[in-house]
Amino acid sequence: MYYRLRNNFRLSIITLLGASAVLGITPFAVYRFWQGNLPAGFADTGILLSICMAVVYAWRTGDTDRAGFVLALVAVGGGATVATLLGEVGLFWLFPSLITSFFLTSALIAVLVNFGALGFLLAEGTAFSSQEQMWSFVTTAIVVSCCAYVFALRNDSQRERLEHLATLDPLTGVKNRRSMDQELAAAVLASQRNGVSYALVVLDLDHFKRINDEFGHSVGDTVLVEFVDLLVTHIRKSDQLFRFGGEEFVLLMPGVDERGLDVVMNNLQHSLRRSLKSPGGQAVTASLGIALLQDGESAASWMARADDALYRAKASGRDCIIYADLSAVASG
Ligand code: GH3
Ligand code: MG
Ligand code: MG
Repeated sequence: MYYRLRNNFRLSIITLLGASAVLGITPFAVYRFWQGNLPAGFADTGILLSICMAVVYAWRTGDTDRAGFVLALVAVGGGATVATLLGEVGLFWLFPSLITSFFLTSALIAVLVNFGALGFLLAEGTAFSSQEQMWSFVTTAIVVSCCAYVFALRNDSQRERLEHLATLDPLTGVKNRRSMDQELAAAVLASQRNGVSYALVVLDLDHFKRINDEFGHSVGDTVLVEFVDLLVTHIRKSDQLFRFGGEEFVLLMPGVDERGLDVVMNNLQHSLRRSLKSPGGQAVTASLGIALLQDGESAASWMARADDALYRAKASGRDCIIYADLSAVASG
């Protein structure tokens, strides 16, 4: 539970707002019934029940988009309904609702929900005691919504940038080791659930240090980028390429059969020998270790087998492909 709250921003916001709403609204719902104001009491109770249902739905299904949208509707629509029933006392509730809608759903939907509620209040008219109060309220509510909209857009773009930085390798543009760990865990789960077959290929450039030593680090960087460009032309859209670290890369390939995989890997190896050259004209080769995911295997053991196969490829003289499941050198 703590893990889900920490790693799912929208779920944590939904839970926090749900809990605050229940704590904040419950005393007022009780008070309305005690006062004998049944419509307002039932409106508060309906809001509370809807909030609880949306929070439970988000936890059970993980569908925080739909739960967040429903919560934004309930918060803003509920606030507007209470304002029409109670008049200006109820209007105060709308301000927190207008802001929280931006935490619960996308900025565009939140602004539409907010403006919809304001339109409803204007058309209905009973929430306000005077024209001046009505226009003051509507103007301040629009200002609050616009500021929250700009803030939410900025927040979204910053989060996207951070996600980008946290998951991509800056030199080659492929995903980094952090996202590899996540994707491997997801692949193991998918294989257990749906029986999808997966291959893991660990590729390491041979004698890469020599390129750096002979031609400099920036030439080494260029070779790494060219290596990735070449790899990308040999893989399918569904395959994922990661930079494991240094001059070592990992390919995660779903839905492969051994024969097809062997053809692709041999093509890749030939293409590398033919096209990837150091500035001195020597071919830059790579060693490959391949492991097919076995039934019930963990991501760590799968990776360890592919790594061990790579180690054996290096020990067999490099520029070759070794399958973890077969002891023989497949190609060299
Ligand atoms: P082997 O065939 O056994 O893999 O030998 P190798 O020289 O490729 O492997 P080794 O592990 O000895 O050296 C890897 C080198 O890769 C050392 C390191 O300086 C270089 N390297 C790691 N990351 C980068 C990078 O981002 N850019 C460049 N230019 N070099 C890098
Ligand atoms: Mg190497
Ligand atoms: Mg290495």
